[in-house]
Amino acid sequence: MLVKIKCADCNTEGTISLLETSYQGPYRCWKCRGLFSIQLHNGQLKSCDPLSQEEFEKLQEIDALKKKFKRD
Ligand SMILES: [Zn+2]
Repeated sequence: MLVKIKCADCNTEGTISLLETSYQGPYRCWKCRGLFSIQLHNGQLKSCDPLSQEEFEKLQEIDALKKKFKRD
C-alpha cells in the first residue's frame, strides 16, 4: 500500500510504499531533503522525529535487514 507522509519541516506530502499498515523506520522528504524517523499505525502517522544523517543511515540499514529477514 502507499501511504502519504507530510513532512514536519515543509509540509510537503510524500508517499512511501509499505508491505504492512504499521511501520517504523526512516523517511526522507523529497523536497527539503529532511530526514525523519516515522512511526505508522494502521496507515496513520503516529510520530515523526527529525534525524541526523548518521542516524538516518543507521535506520536504513536496520530497515533493509528487516526486509531481508522477512523475505527469507
Ligand atoms: Zn520537507
